Amino acid sequence: MSEILGTDSGQSMEKSVKQDMLPPLSHAHLNKLKKTKGHIVIDNVTVDYGKGVVAVKDANLEIQPGEFVCLLGPSGCGKSTLMNTVASFVKPTSGTVTVDGERVKKPGLDRGMVFQQHSLFPWKTVCDNVAFGPLMAKKGKAEAKSIARTFVEMVGLSAYENSYPGMLSGGMKQRVGIARALANYPNVLLMDEPFGALDAQTRAMMQENLLQIWGEFGISVIFVTHDIDEAVFLADRVVVMSASPGRLIADIKVDLPRPRDASMVTSKEYVETKKKCMELIRSESLRAFELQSSKK
Ligand code: ADP
Repeated sequence: MSEILGTDSGQSMEKSVKQDMLPPLSHAHLNKLKKTKGHIVIDNVTVDYGKGVVAVKDANLEIQPGEFVCLLGPSGCGKSTLMNTVASFVKPTSGTVTVDGERVKKPGLDRGMVFQQHSLFPWKTVCDNVAFGPLMAKKGKAEAKSIARTFVEMVGLSAYENSYPGMLSGGMKQRVGIARALANYPNVLLMDEPFGALDAQTRAMMQENLLQIWGEFGISVIFVTHDIDEAVFLADRVVVMSASPGRLIADIKVDLPRPRDASMVTSKEYVETKKKCMELIRSESLRAFELQSSKK
């Protein structure tokens, strides 16, 4: 995975004040947010973009409420496409996606998204960025602000609630992105390589912060990554996709206890799960490379 540091003004700030060292989260309000919803069923989904590009082929996947599932596979294998069928940004050519028994037909606030590149409004403060969703959902100004503050606190950024995105580091912006997605009280969180552009240390902290939030919130998560370590560290299950056309070729349960921390990466379970994933990914990456070489 490339570890490109952001090029914006926040980068120098990141170095100087080390704001990614997270303060302890306040848990008082979080226990109220436990979810029992977020049951996702992907039933025989195929996505054919035309001109010979079948991004996803016959995908079947069921995710239980509160489960953390990583979609792992080589670049271009269809991970984002599959996740986007759950978001309803992409319509399956055949097959269906249901969330809590309802077929998804359009994007909705019940499915929050976090992308690799933050998509914050640069002219709005951290708090106002997070309050935007609740305001759109017709909450009053005071309520929207109060919800925003709760989630800004959850991601450890209370001290920056009046800052503008341009003043934040890459990691902080992604934390605002997570707060913004959660402020709509979704049942499902869809994360497309959200930490892919962060440096290794910040990424490790973000992963722990995300697990902390997920542990409190109890939300179902689909997390797209091509980083094996990230997938094994985060997931309850790692679902591996094949190179084009993207099929689901393995569903690997991660038997690491929770809460997880960095010391677990040397445990027998971690090493064995990683080895399984590595073998699958290596053969799929080679196949993807050969496919790309033969497509002149
Ligand atoms: P991944 O997330 O695993 O990198 P993607 O889902 O982004 O893979 O892409 C899977 C395949 O579908 C790739 O070959 C990509 O070029 C192609 N693709 C993605 N989006 C589109 C689109 N909107 N139109 C046509 N082809 C697309």
